[in-house]
Amino acid sequence: MDYCNLPLSYLIRCYAIPDYDDLGDQSYECQSCGAMMWYAERLDKHRNTSRPEFSLCCQKDKVQLPYMKNAPPTLSNLLFGTDRQSKHFQDNIRSYNMMFAFTSLGGKVQTSINTGAGPYTFLLQGQNYHLLGSMLPEEGARPKFAQLYIFDTENEVRNRIDAVR
Ligand SMILES: [Zn+2]
Repeated sequence: MDYCNLPLSYLIRCYAIPDYDDLGDQSYECQSCGAMMWYAERLDKHRNTSRPEFSLCCQKDKVQLPYMKNAPPTLSNLLFGTDRQSKHFQDNIRSYNMMFAFTSLGGKVQTSINTGAGPYTFLLQGQNYHLLGSMLPEEGARPKFAQLYIFDTENEVRNRIDAVR
């Protein structure tokens, strides 16, 4: 098997566990798109070079993504502002993001691999999927995720806030 043609993430997942190889920093810049890459991600892995070429990022300039647009002023103020409201938003940004989650990740999570030293590894075995529960909460249960949007629209804001407390 030619291991050099396998994606690096696959090699790390299959062959570097539980051992941990430090590849150092992403210290090489793709000459086409400017993405920071690891030397081990270069195209020609059989040749040592000071100017490696990469394709994982932009397929050697075949893929060009447009620059992101600036956030609307209200959101930009929340993201980068220093006032009390912006600080609260920045401190709770994960909670605000989760309020709009309609599904959650499902799959067979392999927990036995995090036994040694090295960074935490999240490994799903088999097929992963999204969990989308009932559109209505069970009797007596509080609505969550997508249920918040259809359960009782008049209380939607209150439900969203309660869901993250
Ligand atoms: Zn590139």
